[in-house]
Amino acid sequence: MFEKALPLLESHFGYSSFRTGQEQAIRSVLSGENTITVMPTGGGKSICYQIPALVLSGTTIVISPLISLMKDQVDALIQVGIPATFINSSLSYSEANKRMHEAIQGNYKLLYIAPERLESREFMEDLYSMDIPLVAVDEAHCISQWGHDFRPSYRHIQQLINSLPQRPMVLALTATATPKVREDICDLLDINEENTIITGFERENLSFTVIKGQDRDKYLKDYLKKNEKEAGIIYAATRKNVDQIYEKLLKANIKAARYHAGMGDVERNREQERFLEDKATVMVATSAFGMGIDKSNIRYVVHYQQPKNMESYYQEAGRAGRDGLKSECILLHSSQDVQIQRFLIDQSSDRSRMTQELAKLQQMVDYCHTENCLQEFILKYFGETETEPCGRCGNCLDTRTSIDVTKEAQMVMSCVIRMGQRFGKTITAQVLTGSKNKKVTEMGFDRLPTYGIMKDRSSKDVSDFIEFLISQELIAIEQGQFPTLFVSPKGKDILLGKEQVHRRETVQVKQVSKDDP
Ligand code: ADP
Ligand code: ZN
Repeated sequence: MFEKALPLLESHFGYSSFRTGQEQAIRSVLSGENTITVMPTGGGKSICYQIPALVLSGTTIVISPLISLMKDQVDALIQVGIPATFINSSLSYSEANKRMHEAIQGNYKLLYIAPERLESREFMEDLYSMDIPLVAVDEAHCISQWGHDFRPSYRHIQQLINSLPQRPMVLALTATATPKVREDICDLLDINEENTIITGFERENLSFTVIKGQDRDKYLKDYLKKNEKEAGIIYAATRKNVDQIYEKLLKANIKAARYHAGMGDVERNREQERFLEDKATVMVATSAFGMGIDKSNIRYVVHYQQPKNMESYYQEAGRAGRDGLKSECILLHSSQDVQIQRFLIDQSSDRSRMTQELAKLQQMVDYCHTENCLQEFILKYFGETETEPCGRCGNCLDTRTSIDVTKEAQMVMSCVIRMGQRFGKTITAQVLTGSKNKKVTEMGFDRLPTYGIMKDRSSKDVSDFIEFLISQELIAIEQGQFPTLFVSPKGKDILLGKEQVHRRETVQVKQVSKDDP
């Protein structure tokens, strides 16, 4: 059946080839497999069900929560000669009825519906009398409680699939799904996990960099001076941060605009316009800014603080370089911010989500501490398996030499084990640096053989080193109210001397001068 796909793509949509992922998804569906496709926004998900809808006989149902986009999609299909319609709450009762009547007659190749429709028994029964070869579930993460946008009405999709007289094929589509959410989608929609197609998360014109251990304000000012003529966004965590950075930039004569939820509509719109029309080159904003903003010439996105997870980070950073030209995504990391994020998550009342959010935060921290390719880290996070170093990120371009830190790694891990693998990073660093902190002595950790074995270093340094070992998966974290460290199987191999650990030189070795007293 796939032979029919390409001619249909050409004749209806005018494209000469499928994008990566589209062909796999269409082949999978047409060979009768339930399938899940994960592609970034703009990757071309719609084609993945529109082409099968044309190949298969009957009416494909498309379930989507995005009511405003339905009409556009349907209009576009009608324009290229594909009979399609939508039914959602924007229609009058009689109009919806009329469309449904036509759908039952088999007059459409595609019928778009909002998930809430499935709560109506009458509507479900109408669907049972139709010939439905395929159910496409757009924004499929909405079906999972672990997703960021759970919608209870999505749970009715299972009921629909199970009670249609002819069991339809299912194609789930989403732009954001962590492995856990994907697993959930597969479970709930009866998709074999082997039929997971993930592609296209790489943005070849973006280069990622993490800046650690520098004065952020100074870095920012220097960076903006160097890129004075280019448009860019600076994301900060709070309204207060935005205001502070904005004031500083104005003082430095940088043409900045600002945007956050604490401002009035009029002012916010004005600031946004100034940025869109290039009257202001830099937009300083909270994460409230950016949704639906279409500005293609953004040359850089700087995060003054790290966001709470990789999904948010990639979405915000991804606003750079929409025009395909080289652009930079820079994250200014400070371990203090992590403490604040952790605190905010701790405060959230929903206990069941807490562990998951802490784990996501930890992956964000790992991103800051990895010495491997940053683009690859992101692709792996989103589930791509066949990845290669990008050759253009801060880590790929880092020319510092790697040094053997196996011995230090062993010191840290043996300390973690001697402390019973029941404690967190801060106190572990204190024990290693020989701190006289009350908790350390009360617990008797000052009598451990590993007490003070790294006392020539600051506890901040050792903390960073522990983060590095976590990012290398030698030490793992058990999340909970008090996150605790334990040594992973990979870490145990290091302890046994089976493998070595290397780290790029980060601390300048202090030059001992002869003049020193
Ligand atoms: P998504 O739903 O993943 O955000 P869309 O389905 O809206 O993405 O597609 C994004 C854009 O890519 C659209 O403008 C679409 O016309 C275009 N597109 C999709 N598939 C192809 C293709 N095979 N060749 C060229 N352009 C394509
Ligand atoms: Zn890289």
